[in-house]
Amino acid sequence: MTELLYQTHSYLQTFSATVTAVDESNHAVLLDRTAFYPGGGGQPYDLGVLRSAGGEIALERPRKGPEGVWHVLAAGTDLPAPGTSVEGQIDWARRYRLMRTHTAMHVLCGVVFRDYGAQVTGGDMEPLKGRMDFEFESMSKELVGVIEAAVNVEVEAGHPVRVQILPRETAFQIPDLIRTKINLLPPGIAEVRTVELVGLDLQADGGTHVHNTAEVGRVRVVDYKSKGRINKRIYVELEDL
Ligand SMILES: [Zn+2]
Repeated sequence: MTELLYQTHSYLQTFSATVTAVDESNHAVLLDRTAFYPGGGGQPYDLGVLRSAGGEIALERPRKGPEGVWHVLAAGTDLPAPGTSVEGQIDWARRYRLMRTHTAMHVLCGVVFRDYGAQVTGGDMEPLKGRMDFEFESMSKELVGVIEAAVNVEVEAGHPVRVQILPRETAFQIPDLIRTKINLLPPGIAEVRTVELVGLDLQADGGTHVHNTAEVGRVRVVDYKSKGRINKRIYVELEDL
């Protein structure tokens, strides 16, 4: 299995690794460790480059498989052979924006649950933009403004972001995690990674986050939409710092 460096070191921009397998048909290599986020939980995958003695190859996309993380490389390039030492470099401008955006989405979840008891039902993001669906009966321009103000208060409050990897049994006893439907996790999973905005929000989550909510910067709620009687979608944007 590939060691998932991004799970514990979200600020890692470069890393060294060894190619452990090659998939010619998908033009991809498997690495023993990676800092490239392969996507999931609404957070898009990372981009970047892989360097070896043979030169630099653009990463088309990382993809999680049963064997670990495959790195699909730019078409028409020579794949490094198994055993080759490589250095990966993340497109940091994109990733850091995604980290700020992902943490902003958790601030929004935390605020909406704390103030209105509304659960999140889905979400998606791209750099500096995101949307989340909540179990909300009615949404108005006025309410959106109140939510936006509350989100920015919590961003500026500077909540530390704490990531933990817990044994399944421990995680299943935390009330905040039970409310976020942690019980829907597949039975085979022995450990649960949690992301806590200390004092605001706690979720089971696989994504990469900033270390403190203050890094998110100003958040604007730019739109909202009804997606059904008890489902409302909120759109947010972050400033480009
Ligand atoms: Zn998340």
